[in-house]
Amino acid sequence: MIIYDFRCEKGHVFEGRFSSAEDCQAQVARKMIACPICGEAEVHKELAAPAVHLGRAARKLPPKTLAQNEEGERKTLFRAYVDAVREVIDKGCENVGERFAAEAIAMHDGEVETRNIVGTSTKEEEETLKSSGVRFQKLFLPRFDD
Ligand SMILES: [Zn+2]
Repeated sequence: MIIYDFRCEKGHVFEGRFSSAEDCQAQVARKMIACPICGEAEVHKELAAPAVHLGRAARKLPPKTLAQNEEGERKTLFRAYVDAVREVIDKGCENVGERFAAEAIAMHDGEVETRNIVGTSTKEEEETLKSSGVRFQKLFLPRFDD
């Protein structure tokens, strides 16, 4: 399950849960999503990184781990979250590495087909992206030492 944030015309932010990114796109295209606060049907998907539903990842954890003290449990869940985000990125995005900014601008300008990409960018490139009106999301994913 994938959770996306939406924002309505009045600025309310709410979550939509979908079985896949395609399912979300289809519902948005058919205008099947309305703001649960005011009923506004003019809603926009926030282009942030998709949040990942923890259900499956959390169930994979050994029960003993989840039964540990609260601090341990938080760390375990955080790690499961990071792993799940990584999985979504690995499966759903093309890794363009250092060409991220160039690819994002090419997509923004309509020179190449829009697709989900992940990569790295420098501070200067991020400024260029921002001033060009290209929307992107920075993610900080820690690496764990096993
Ligand atoms: Zn609203």
